Amino acid sequence: MAEYADHESSEDPLHILRHSTAHLLAAAVTELYPEAKYGIGPPVEDGFYYDFAFPQPISESDLPAIESRMRRLAQEGRPFVQQTLTRKQAVDEFTARHQDYKLELIADKVEGDEVSVYHTGDFLDLCRGPHVATTKDLKAFKLLRVAGAYWRGDEKKPQLTRIYGTSWGSQKELDEYLKFLEEAEKRDHKRIGKELKLFTVDERVGAGLPLWLPNGATIRRELERFIVDEELSRGYLHVRTPDVARLELYEQSGHAKLYRENMYPPMKFEDGEELELRPVNCPHHIVVYQSDLRSYRDLPMRIAEIGNNWRFERSGTLIGLNRVRAFALNDAHIFCTEEQLMDEVKGAIELALYFSDVLGIDEFSYRLSTRDDVKDKWLGTEAQWKRAQDALGEALKSMGQTFTVGTGEAAFYGPKIDFQVRDAHRREFTNSTVQIDFQLPERFELEYVAEDGSRKRPVMVHRGAAGSMERLFSYLIERYAGAFPAWLHPVQVAVIPITDAQIDYAGRVAAALRAKRLRVEVDSRPERMQRKIRDAQGQKVPYMAIVGGREAETEHVNVRDRSGSQTDEALESFAARVALEVAERRR
Ligand SMILES: [Zn+2]
Ligand SMILES: [Zn+2]
Repeated sequence: MAEYADHESSEDPLHILRHSTAHLLAAAVTELYPEAKYGIGPPVEDGFYYDFAFPQPISESDLPAIESRMRRLAQEGRPFVQQTLTRKQAVDEFTARHQDYKLELIADKVEGDEVSVYHTGDFLDLCRGPHVATTKDLKAFKLLRVAGAYWRGDEKKPQLTRIYGTSWGSQKELDEYLKFLEEAEKRDHKRIGKELKLFTVDERVGAGLPLWLPNGATIRRELERFIVDEELSRGYLHVRTPDVARLELYEQSGHAKLYRENMYPPMKFEDGEELELRPVNCPHHIVVYQSDLRSYRDLPMRIAEIGNNWRFERSGTLIGLNRVRAFALNDAHIFCTEEQLMDEVKGAIELALYFSDVLGIDEFSYRLSTRDDVKDKWLGTEAQWKRAQDALGEALKSMGQTFTVGTGEAAFYGPKIDFQVRDAHRREFTNSTVQIDFQLPERFELEYVAEDGSRKRPVMVHRGAAGSMERLFSYLIERYAGAFPAWLHPVQVAVIPITDAQIDYAGRVAAALRAKRLRVEVDSRPERMQRKIRDAQGQKVPYMAIVGGREAETEHVNVRDRSGSQTDEALESFAARVALEVAERRR
């Protein structure tokens, strides 16, 4: 099965185990649903799947029955037996079983006249192996969920039912993995985004185009202020440029040709003008650079913007805020001399490290992405690429950072350092990046006036330090499971009057806190105090200020934090304490 499909045969014992469990799943399904047709079933990270065409649709509620049949077959200890058939024999076997998908795979994937198949009891699969010896070796597995998947990933082909499962060497490992999944599910940013009213996605607006609700927009504003202020203090010049540009600009930059698959179709006007939604900010920032004659004294020039980018993503790949069709990038383009290059690369890495430290991005790794071997996928000369790749590697080494190399992961104009982060589901993504570019300066004929009065060409560094606001936010939601540090939380203090008699005092407490620019909500609903506390806890509000008659008399508040600890504190000292925590952006 899998080996005749889109995946390499593997000797990794876990892969073999998971792959074998996929056979077991298909064996159980064909026993329970004799009319089911089976497609492919490879191992994947942490588990396996198998695609089926069922005569009637099945749902997750059908999984326990399938799983219990799998257990029965596992206990029977059916051996995995290989047999080599001629092409005709194989076609006859799968025709007798009405397995059209296997017949298609034989026609498309099998070369020569020998076809390797595996028997597991009555179940027959097209496969080269290897597998475990018998189904008794499959001891710790679980079916997880059902999803739709097009046959061979092609939207024009029939939609099949994909059953996902996981399989481990021992029950202990399986239990640990299921616990991890449960925790990841609790932290899932789409789920928390709904619970805390942070963002929403609506079909009327479109898939992959999230709307930031007031709570989410508050957090984003805080993030942007933090980022922009820090960059200004490090000598960046913040600009504002439009979301669109004429197609010609992207022809000059090379994007129109080499980045086309990520771009939206141009908007055509009657007079023949064509505008593009920008997929990147670089050409705009180049135009900013060229808006004046630059001298060596102006360099390095660090042009920055939290700029909106529009990139086409297939609808099937969109994930909440993590993979979207429009996003705001914390972007900058540094124009410098070759002598300044190393310092600028290091400065960009340091800034990314600083952001990570404040924001709580604890776990990340560096990847040095180098160029593709296919010549038409990159611009420039081999010597330029080598110099740029060496410079990036050197910068990391000199900072004592270790990194992996991602061959073919570079941008078409130059190599880059990517900061790879993992979300709660351990999916890896790039959060920030530093890229060296010798190409765009040439294409746009960038210049500066050198000390001797001659015209020279600057080098360009593209750098994203905190990533896109969308992806960063999805990461932070999962990182904190919604319990954001006070400086980011949409409501920093919930003031809870115990009875209506304290509503006035609650208002005075709120005013005192707001005077320190804190975000406060007074819960004056006619609910019991316990209910209000529960609701504030549900919203992960950092502080509750509970006020009763005694507090009102003494100008105090009863402070309850997220850990549940409670203290009685003078209003003034509480306000000053939280304001300081927020100002220092403490985690
Ligand atoms: Zn197999
Ligand atoms: Zn750029």
